[in-house]
Amino acid sequence: MSRLGAIATVKAETTVRAILPMKVLRVLPILALSFLTLPSAKAQEGLKIFISIDMEGLTGVVTDAQLGPSGFEYERFRRFMTDELLATIEAAREAGATEFLVADSHGNGQNVLIERLPDDIQIVRAWPRPLAMMQGIDESFDGAIFIGYHASTTNTEGVRAHTMSSSNITDVKLNGISMPEAGINAAIAGHFGVPVIMISGDDAIVEEARAIIGDMEGAVVKWANSFHSARTMTPAAGAALIREKVKAAVLRISDFKPYRLEGPITFDLSLKHYRPVEMLGYLPIVERINSHTIRFVGADMLEVSRFFQFVTSYSISIQP
Ligand SMILES: [Zn+2]
Repeated sequence: MSRLGAIATVKAETTVRAILPMKVLRVLPILALSFLTLPSAKAQEGLKIFISIDMEGLTGVVTDAQLGPSGFEYERFRRFMTDELLATIEAAREAGATEFLVADSHGNGQNVLIERLPDDIQIVRAWPRPLAMMQGIDESFDGAIFIGYHASTTNTEGVRAHTMSSSNITDVKLNGISMPEAGINAAIAGHFGVPVIMISGDDAIVEEARAIIGDMEGAVVKWANSFHSARTMTPAAGAALIREKVKAAVLRISDFKPYRLEGPITFDLSLKHYRPVEMLGYLPIVERINSHTIRFVGADMLEVSRFFQFVTSYSISIQP
């Protein structure tokens, strides 16, 4: 990618000039060390990586006990989540990434322990946000990574398999294809020309994501027995596997293709309950295609994502 070369050169010069006068003694040994530990495959420089992190697909997660503030294991799993994120960032850096944006994309959007992140990392928190789990992505990113992801609500396998809302949504289709969150989010990344390069989660989502999106590195950190059971690695082993796969992905980042959906994009949303479908059908931009399904046609993924976020977040009683 030609634009990368130019950006990387400018950044490197700026950084060296800024650091050299006062910190040269401290930086030189670090530079020497980083040359010694360079991977044998040639790492690109100056890569910018978007990380969307969910929780159901983290190592060890199997039930609500790990997934929210009322669960007895939630605080510990926030730490494991942060460990998996740190492993991702460190591995991507080793392979040539220099800039990151993280989207905390589970539950209340305030799961990652932000004080444990390096000071050059910024993170998107809480809701609503128009691009949902991909808020903040744009054309400037070179790759997207999905950590802690889970299978779709139409998948018969998978720990906590659901799409956006397990209590309300029974199917989400883009241009006629049932999508996991990974597929929707890959299409948002694809809108900006950004490929998904790596995913972690259980065996079901890694298989499902590859079938829809195509080639990407996958870290299977647990194997689903059922909706609420898995055989899992330990948190440390899961983080180590993620580290390995992220590094492999960033080192061959030019192999991955953006998942682009041509517009207009047909978005079919099937809900568990009758009344929201009935009422959404009042809107002139919505077609009710059966008792439990509405259709919205968006010019592109940005329109689809805004519509989806509205439908899942809006209520007349939201405050303030
Ligand atoms: Zn989640």
